[in-house]
Amino acid sequence: MPFAPSDVILITGGSRGIGRATALACARAGARVAFSYRSDDAAARDTLAACQALTGEDGAIALQADVVEEAQVMALFASTRQRLGPITGVVNNAGIVASSMPLADMSVERLRQVVDTNVLGALLVAREAARALVDHGALVNVSSMASRLGSPNEYVDYAASKGALDTLTIGLSKELGPRGIRVNAVRPGLIETDIHARAGRPERLAELGPGCPLGRAGRPEEVAEAIVWLLSDAASYVTGAFIDPAGGR
Ligand code: NDP
Repeated sequence: MPFAPSDVILITGGSRGIGRATALACARAGARVAFSYRSDDAAARDTLAACQALTGEDGAIALQADVVEEAQVMALFASTRQRLGPITGVVNNAGIVASSMPLADMSVERLRQVVDTNVLGALLVAREAARALVDHGALVNVSSMASRLGSPNEYVDYAASKGALDTLTIGLSKELGPRGIRVNAVRPGLIETDIHARAGRPERLAELGPGCPLGRAGRPEEVAEAIVWLLSDAASYVTGAFIDPAGGR
C-alpha cells in the first residue's frame, strides 16, 4: 500500500475530472481523503460516496471552498485537520480554462478570473500546505503541458498561469526541502474531462487527441497514478520535479 492509514491527503477541485480520479486513487491506496469543490454539490456527493465506499464513512470528506477566497482556503485546511487529523499530502489541482481565443480578444475580466483561480488560488493553497504539512509531507501541483507549449490562439493566459505554477514548484521545493517536505508537479497533456466542454471546446479531445505520439487523449486515472506516486514514500528523494502524463506531447 502506498499510504498508511494515518495519511491524510487533501485535494482541491476533487469533485470532478483529474481531482476526482486522484481522490479515488488515494483512497484505494490506503489514505484518508478530503477534497474540495467550488459549487457542484451533486458531483461532490457522488465522488464522496465513491471515496467512502473505499475508506469507510469516516475516511473521506467533501468540503465546499473557493480557492480564490483566502478565508475559505484556511477553513478548508482547518476542517480537514480537525475531522481527519494532520495533513500529510496536498494536491493543488483546482483550475479553470476560459474560452478559446487570441490574447488580443481577451477581456480583463476573463484574465482576472483565470489568474485569480490558477495563480492566486494555487498560491493560497500552497501557502496553507506550507503551514500545515509536517516532516515527510508532500505537495503536488497540477500544472499543464500548456506551460511548455504555450497554447497560442487558444489559451495563452491559461498557459502563462501554469508557467507560474511550474516556477512555484521549483521555488517552494527549495524553500520546504530543509523541512523534509517535497514539492513536485504533474504536467498533463490533453485529458478526457469536462474542462474542455466548459471552455466551449468539447471537440478539442477528438481533434487534438490523436496528435501526440501515443495517439490519444489521456484518462484522468492516468494522471492520478503519477500524483499518487509523487505523494507516496516511493518518491522520497524526488522534489522540484515534473512528471508529464501527456502521451509524449
Ligand atoms: P474539471 O473542470 O473537470 O474539474 C475542475 C475541478 O476544480 C472541479 O472539482 C471544480 O469544482 C474545481 N474548481 C474549479 N474552480 C474552482 C475554484 N475557484 N475553487 C475551488 N474549486 C474549483 O477540470 P480537470 O479535472 O480537467 O482539471 C483539473 C486540473 O488539471 C486543472 O488545474 C487543469 O488546469 C489541469 N489540467 C487539465 C487538463 C485536461 O486536459 N483536462 C490538462 C492539463 C492540466 P466545481 O465543479 O464545483 O466548480
